[in-house]
Amino acid sequence: MPGKNLSREEARDRAAIIRVESYRVHLDVSAAADPGRPTFRSTTRISFDCAEPGATSFADLLAPEVVSVELNGLALDPAEVFDGARVTLPVLAAHNELTVVAECAYSRTGEGLHRFVDPADGETYLYTHYEPADARRVFANFEQPDLKAPFTFTVTAPAAWDVYANAVHERITDEGAARTWEFAPTRPISTYLTAVVAGPYHVVRDHYTRELPDGTRLEIPLAATCRRSLAPHFDADEILTVTKQGLDFFHQEFDYPYPFGKYDQCFVPEYNIGAMENPGCVTFREEFVFRSKVTEAAYESRANVILHEMAHMWFGDLVTMKWWDDLWLKESFADFMGSYAQIGAGTRYRSAWITFANRRKAWAYRQDQFPTTHPITADIRDLEDAKLNFDGITYAKGASVLKQLVAYVGRDAFFEGARAYFRKHAFGNTVLTDLLDALEETSGRDLRAWSAAWLQTSGVNTLTPELVHDAEGRITELAVRQDGTPLRPHRIAVGLYDLDADGALLRTDRYELDVAGERTVVAAAAGRPVPALVLVNDDDLTYCKVRFDERSLETLRTGLGGLGGLGGLADEAGPDAPGLARALAWSAVWNLTRDGLMPTRDYLDLVLRFAGRESDVGVLQSLHQQAGDALAVYADPARRAEYGTALAECALRELSQATPGSDHQLAWARFLADTAERADHLQLLRGLLDGTGRIDGLTVDQELRWSFWLALASHGRASAEELAAELERDNTAGGRRQRTQCLAALPTPEAKAAAWAAVVDSDELPNALVEAEIAGFNRPGQRELTAPYAAPYFEALETVWAERSIEIAMRIVGGFFPRYQTTPETLAATDAWLSTRPDAAPALRRLVLECRDDLARALRAQECDAQ
Ligand SMILES: [Zn+2]
Repeated sequence: MPGKNLSREEARDRAAIIRVESYRVHLDVSAAADPGRPTFRSTTRISFDCAEPGATSFADLLAPEVVSVELNGLALDPAEVFDGARVTLPVLAAHNELTVVAECAYSRTGEGLHRFVDPADGETYLYTHYEPADARRVFANFEQPDLKAPFTFTVTAPAAWDVYANAVHERITDEGAARTWEFAPTRPISTYLTAVVAGPYHVVRDHYTRELPDGTRLEIPLAATCRRSLAPHFDADEILTVTKQGLDFFHQEFDYPYPFGKYDQCFVPEYNIGAMENPGCVTFREEFVFRSKVTEAAYESRANVILHEMAHMWFGDLVTMKWWDDLWLKESFADFMGSYAQIGAGTRYRSAWITFANRRKAWAYRQDQFPTTHPITADIRDLEDAKLNFDGITYAKGASVLKQLVAYVGRDAFFEGARAYFRKHAFGNTVLTDLLDALEETSGRDLRAWSAAWLQTSGVNTLTPELVHDAEGRITELAVRQDGTPLRPHRIAVGLYDLDADGALLRTDRYELDVAGERTVVAAAAGRPVPALVLVNDDDLTYCKVRFDERSLETLRTGLGGLGGLGGLADEAGPDAPGLARALAWSAVWNLTRDGLMPTRDYLDLVLRFAGRESDVGVLQSLHQQAGDALAVYADPARRAEYGTALAECALRELSQATPGSDHQLAWARFLADTAERADHLQLLRGLLDGTGRIDGLTVDQELRWSFWLALASHGRASAEELAAELERDNTAGGRRQRTQCLAALPTPEAKAAAWAAVVDSDELPNALVEAEIAGFNRPGQRELTAPYAAPYFEALETVWAERSIEIAMRIVGGFFPRYQTTPETLAATDAWLSTRPDAAPALRRLVLECRDDLARALRAQECDAQ
């Protein structure tokens, strides 16, 4: 479609001449509950100035029909000025009034105005999601982040509904079967941050109040909403507690009063991402409303997201990047703050940095080793580039590097810089240098070299200890070797650990130092006894891959589970330090496995030995996930069955030994479902489902039931009738997704063909069911069944990319890639596609290149494991 993919140059040219005074947007969704109505009426009035009268520019709009366009009192013919993606604006005056009336489409893909019908009660729900550029699916606008303006929304909706938008509503007018909600004008914000949520949502209200330094009182009305049928599961108290703790913390740290009036948090169905920071109207995926028992790690993850979005009210909403190159200016900060605030705000989640080290950084390391990696400050040519950059670099590596920056300039200078940045750029747009200027002023340090090393280059460094000792067992020299390009300055801690009488590995020494160049000597360690383990990047201050010397690695093979055992230097390093060291060791051995430097059998052996002793349930759950991945793609195929049985037996053993009713018990039950293959293991799951078997303390609730059904279905031990009966029992949106996944997972050619056709050959399914079909289709144990789809996959790629929305296209490209066909033939087929499609869309090529890299890595790891 012409003009759909806005380029950076076009945005720059437009911003050079246009200044937007205000938007008034009216949406009529009063007939939304009628599934026969594919569109809604959208009326936009934009007041804007043009610095070059006589110039031609354009507004963005993706709509099936434009009814009318009026510019400065003149009617323009939609057939002439609208091309499906843009409205041409000829001969602009110094001041302009543009009115566009369009029929816009309800979305099924989560992009634009999404419409969802709840199978539990037939109610219809709407919400918008725009980032990076889908507001134009809902109203005509200038879709780029640096053309900020106040927005005034008016929404006509069914009378029984509530409507939420960025600002408070000022008036509701009854019109019989409908009501019209008029909202107050927002402060100046970017188009991608506007939001409307409408439907018969269940709501819980609360209030936050705070005395500001100038003596005035800040009052923030709070609301938390979810679908009515989820209300019985909605723990709004817990959500609002974290919300208030966060508001206290950010006011204290940022010293800039929350600028957007009220604070609504809406949990919405079929949401594509975790959450979105719309000012005053944050949207979350409703899977954060837990229908069944989840572990503390899930609550922690939700609290992290709540705080991440809240940090955006300042980083992103108050001060916004000029273009998507500087997306990191908001995402890296919010990602860092999500963890930082969990500790700082005094929430009950104390494992934030352990989770960060273990899970968040794994995402960054993976992304940063792709051939498609990029600097944290990216080169974003257009909107397709932008869409792909919500990735492990922009979020997790950026946040890791900010953590390193805090270690480098100090916490006080860091926050003082942030405060100055907010004051100077409030309601404006910024680039990298604006932030560096603020931080240099408060820290007194030259950050240009630091920025060049950390923000403007890509790739991860490796840090390895090198230890020389004398005949008496004393350290002669301990050094840290740095590999990778470029070499960077790192502020790190090096920990020395020794075994105590009980076999716990406790820290005996900690040295904090600056590492620079290829080799840095830890001078203070000379003369100390040789330790059992040297841990570089102890306390996880920097972003790097950690390696070990031979002796340390041997120690971990027998002692990883006891690393950081209580009674170490906890008082010095903080209460999280013992578990953090272990999480770092787990992360390091995972990286060794992924890099083909540790055979998969050795990694799995560590999991079999020590996962049962892991106290942090979040770490345990990532071990489960990684062990599953290792088995599926990194294991020598000849040994896969043997490893799989060992993991399932380990799961069964730990499940029976776990404290009844504990999070650990639930995690092991889920892992048993993931690994069960043998008839007796599957029979055990069936017994738990039908009540003939039980495990003390384990409640087989609805989500756990579905995970058992998935295991049975994947192994041909569940029938379509049984799955239909389970859906009867759980006739909800969640149940529908789970049943879809189970059906696609059945080990028959028909099931695979149906899932493929439903997603690739049709665009009828909503995003959530696309995801479920793909997850069911691509199962690691079904290689023979899915092998015939490798060739059609490559044939379909370009059509999918051209014809489907980018959100759905990304899922199909990533989800159907034959990643379990870990053979040289699949690699060759991927290379053949890449070499014969040099002109395919760059964003599509990037996704395929990343899949290819994962596959090549899997082949290397398998080779290592086979030796
Ligand atoms: Zn974010």
